Amino acid sequence: MDYNKLAKILFPNLKHTRKYYEQKYPKRVLNEKQIVTRFAPSPTGFIHMGSLYASFVSYIFAKQTDGIFYLRIEDTDQKRKVEHGIEKMIDDLKKEDIIFDEGPTVGGIYGPYIQSERKEIYDAFVYDLIQKGYAYPAFESKEELDEIRKLQEKEKQRIGYYGKYAKSRNRSLEEIEKLIEHGIPYVIRLCAPDHFEDKFEFKDCVKGKILLPANDMDIVIQKQDGLPTYHFAHVVDDYLMNTTHVVRGDEWLSSVPVHLQLFRLLGVKAPKYSHIAPLTKKDGESIRKLSKRYDKECSMQFYQEEGVPTNAIKLYLATLLNASFEEYYLSNKEATISNFHFEWKKMSVGGSLFDYTKLLFLSKIYLSRLTALELYEEMLPYYHTYDKAFYELIVREKEYTIKILNVERTGKKPRKDFATYQDIKKHIWYMYDFYYDTYENSYMKKDYNLTLVTKYFETVYKENDDKDTWYMNLKEFIGQYGYAKTVKEYSQNPEQYIGHVGTFCEMIRVFLFCSLETPDIYELLQILTKEKIIKRLSLIRQKHSFMI
Ligand code: GLU
Repeated sequence: MDYNKLAKILFPNLKHTRKYYEQKYPKRVLNEKQIVTRFAPSPTGFIHMGSLYASFVSYIFAKQTDGIFYLRIEDTDQKRKVEHGIEKMIDDLKKEDIIFDEGPTVGGIYGPYIQSERKEIYDAFVYDLIQKGYAYPAFESKEELDEIRKLQEKEKQRIGYYGKYAKSRNRSLEEIEKLIEHGIPYVIRLCAPDHFEDKFEFKDCVKGKILLPANDMDIVIQKQDGLPTYHFAHVVDDYLMNTTHVVRGDEWLSSVPVHLQLFRLLGVKAPKYSHIAPLTKKDGESIRKLSKRYDKECSMQFYQEEGVPTNAIKLYLATLLNASFEEYYLSNKEATISNFHFEWKKMSVGGSLFDYTKLLFLSKIYLSRLTALELYEEMLPYYHTYDKAFYELIVREKEYTIKILNVERTGKKPRKDFATYQDIKKHIWYMYDFYYDTYENSYMKKDYNLTLVTKYFETVYKENDDKDTWYMNLKEFIGQYGYAKTVKEYSQNPEQYIGHVGTFCEMIRVFLFCSLETPDIYELLQILTKEKIIKRLSLIRQKHSFMI
């Protein structure tokens, strides 16, 4: 067979040869530690926790070696294309701080980074394989392929296009020319040189040594529409774009013999593979894949609406990536993702369990380590989108808000009751008259002594007292009115007292902060100011004139 002639018949208008592209896309200049990874999604239009995790893994490994991380859109399956899908995905990833060095929007010298725009490049490589006798046109219709499958089922053989079932493998040039003249549609198939019985061994960065049968399937490399299949596009792109590590879902693991065969037939070095298992979730007694369809915590929009900080998501993903990150983070206040050394070998082989509660736990730690100003600045965009009234209030009252956020923040054990930005308002709204003045306080009890609390603030409370003096004076005051100064004293003789210091503080909390639980009252009172305290108490008197 004259393969050169066959290649010319199939690609009469080939624009450039393989060599041209190899010169156009030079080897990257890297030191031996630097790695190049990519995220290569289909443009389905949205990022979910599973795809975010995959991109995060690639991103981390590239960045920790000062390497390159790029985005490539794999849209050769035009059926899966979604309008504005690419922009939406890039936007979603940006929100999670996944930034690409190269890609469809940022550009780069290895572009175009959208596969459907690289048809001419794939053509050049298909042409090259045909010239070498490693690929050929196959003309079987869907019906004929069905027939082959039925025959294989009958003969109890493996299903697929291989060996004696690969009908188009041995067509003569004349036959091929005739079929083309008659307009019979065709695909280009690989002429697989290996044997199924031969074992194929390779080393996966995550899963270790893998033994699979060698590939004898004449897989399709170029479809009828002229676009390559995933297999072929992956090999050509990762070769030309100089990817050193292909990080992808482990559903591709069984295709590795095909891919390595293709690299071998093209005569080029293959990248390393890191196949990552999907995120899983506990569902009752069983464990299943985290599902975009059924699990709200799979959608990124859920996190945006809840106000889960991007950094908390990343910290959690880092613990899924290498479990040892968690201990490092918890025991080290200065811990950052970029200062931790992640290892492929420490990744879970079978799939990490995704646990939203754990994510929120890490988020609490993360938010507790921010300064009040940092927290203030981080929460602003959330409220700008989801609660305009509160946003405007905290912008107007910036200094006041920062003071509130600073309550119990600077000590040894900072407060950890915010897991999301949404939680912040839930815990501080009562400090603003805007909400306080119209709030129906459901904790108010008839036997609370408004008169006594008012008297305390009017006669004893001094803004300038330090915390110890404040507390001593408060206890002194309540002692005169039948309250025990300590809980201990009270519990020894409860019948002798109306209540104890805790009961009195509960009244302050409910009156002024509409809540049974607050952070440090002393700090809150200081921020509120005496003037506002008195105003609030008289407002209660107006609303609840029946109270003692
Ligand atoms: N486009 C492939 C997918 O969405 C990506 C696999 C890869 O990263 O090579 O599954």
